[in-house]
Amino acid sequence: MLEHSSLVTSLNFAGLGLPDTLLHALTAHKFTVPTPIQVDAIPPLLAGKDLLGIAQTGSGKTAAFVLPILTHLLAEPRRPGPFQTRVLILAPTRELALQIDEATRGLAAGARMRTVVIIGGASRYKQCEAMRRGADFVIGTPGRIRDLMNTRELSIGTVERFVLDEADRMLDLGFIRDIRHIVAALPARRQSCLFSATMPADVAQLANGLLRDPVRVEIAREEATAPKIAQSVRFVPTSGKQALLAELLSHPGFSRVLVFTRTKHGANKVAERLEATGVQVDAIHGNKSQPQRERALRDFRNGRARVLVATDIAARGIDVTGVSHVINFDLPAEPESYVHRIGRTARAGAEGIAIAFCDATERATLRAIERLLGDKIPVVGDIPAEFQGRGDSPNPAWKRGGGGGGDRNRRNPPPRGRQGMRSAA
Ligand code: AMP
Repeated sequence: MLEHSSLVTSLNFAGLGLPDTLLHALTAHKFTVPTPIQVDAIPPLLAGKDLLGIAQTGSGKTAAFVLPILTHLLAEPRRPGPFQTRVLILAPTRELALQIDEATRGLAAGARMRTVVIIGGASRYKQCEAMRRGADFVIGTPGRIRDLMNTRELSIGTVERFVLDEADRMLDLGFIRDIRHIVAALPARRQSCLFSATMPADVAQLANGLLRDPVRVEIAREEATAPKIAQSVRFVPTSGKQALLAELLSHPGFSRVLVFTRTKHGANKVAERLEATGVQVDAIHGNKSQPQRERALRDFRNGRARVLVATDIAARGIDVTGVSHVINFDLPAEPESYVHRIGRTARAGAEGIAIAFCDATERATLRAIERLLGDKIPVVGDIPAEFQGRGDSPNPAWKRGGGGGGDRNRRNPPPRGRQGMRSAA
C-alpha cells in the first residue's frame, strides 16, 4: 500500500470518473485512495489528453496509465486483428514489463483483456503464436518489439494508446534508435504517455517528438520520501566488503536484503561467496536468462532466498515488499541510481534501512550522491586508516558523522533509535 498525501485523502477513485467495473477491481485490490499521480493523471487521460509524467516506480504510476486505457477499451470494445494490438506499452526491462502485465491483468479483473508480453530472453515463438490472435495490450521491451515488427509478427499501425515507461532508463540503456523506429510506425491518431523519473534534455526532446500538447504531471522525487529510509555509510576497504556483508547478514534482522553491485561479474562473485557461507542467496543481472531472473525474483518474494544480489539494470522496477535492507556493496556510478536503489526498501510506506559501503576509490561518488540528496549520509562504524587524512574535500564525509545539521534527511546513527542499526550496521 502506498502512502498518500493528506490533500488527496478526500478523493476516491469514483470521483476520478472511472467506470464501475474498474472500481470493483480496485476495491478487490484494496486500492481505496488514489495516489497523487493517479489523482493528477487519470482525469486528463480519460479526457483523451497526452501526458508527460515525472514519477518513479513506487508512485502508483502503472495504475495511473492502465486504468484510463482500460476505461477506453471497455467503452469501445473491438477485437484486434491478427498480429495487431490496441495498446502498446514499452518498458526498459523484462522485469518491469512483466510487472506492468501483472498489474494490467489484475486491474482488468473480469473484463477479458488479452495481454501479450514481448520481451527478450523468452520464447520468441510463443510470443509470435500469441500475436496470431491479436492483443488488446502488448507490453514489452524495445528490442524484441522491433524484432517482431520487422518480421511482421507484430503490427502497431492500429495502436490507440501508447505508453513509454521509464524513458530516462530507456535512453540510459541505449534504446533510443529502437524507440524512434517504433514511434515512427505508430499511427498519428493515438493517445501517448511518457513517464520518466528524471527529465534530462534527451528525454525532454523525446517527449517533444512524441506527445501532442501534453498535460505535465510531476510527483515529488524519491528523495522526498527519504526520511522513511534510515541511511548510513560504512567506510571499508575494497578487500573488506565481503566480510562486512557477511557480518551484517549474521544479524537476523536482515531478513530480506537486496545487495547492489556495479557489475554482473561482481554480483556473481558476491552471491557465490555468500552461498559458500550458507546464506540463501540468488543473483539477478542482465546475463541471466529470463526464467532464471523470474525464479530469483519469486524466491526472493516468497522468502526462499533471503538475499538477492542485483545490478542496477536488472533491479530496475523490482517491486518487492518487505525489503528490510538495501546494501550498496558498490556505490553506483550515477548518483541517481543510489536513490532508485534505496527506494527498493521502505516501499509502499514501510520503513527501511539502506547501508552503503564506500571504499577509498568511491569517495567522489559518495560526495556526488550527497550533493544530489542535498544532505550528508551518516557514517557508522570505524574509519579505516587509509581513509583518514587523504580527503580531497574540505569537509570529507567521514569527519561529519552526527550532530548539527537539522536538514530534512538528517539521521544520526542509530537513526530514530531503530533497533539493530548500530550493532548491525
Ligand atoms: P507502481 O509505481 O505502479 O509500480 O506501484 C507501486 C505499488 O503501489 C504497487 O505495488 C501497486 O500495487 C501499489 N498501488 C498502486 N496504486 C495504489 C493505490 N491507489 N492504493 C494502494 N496501493 C497502490
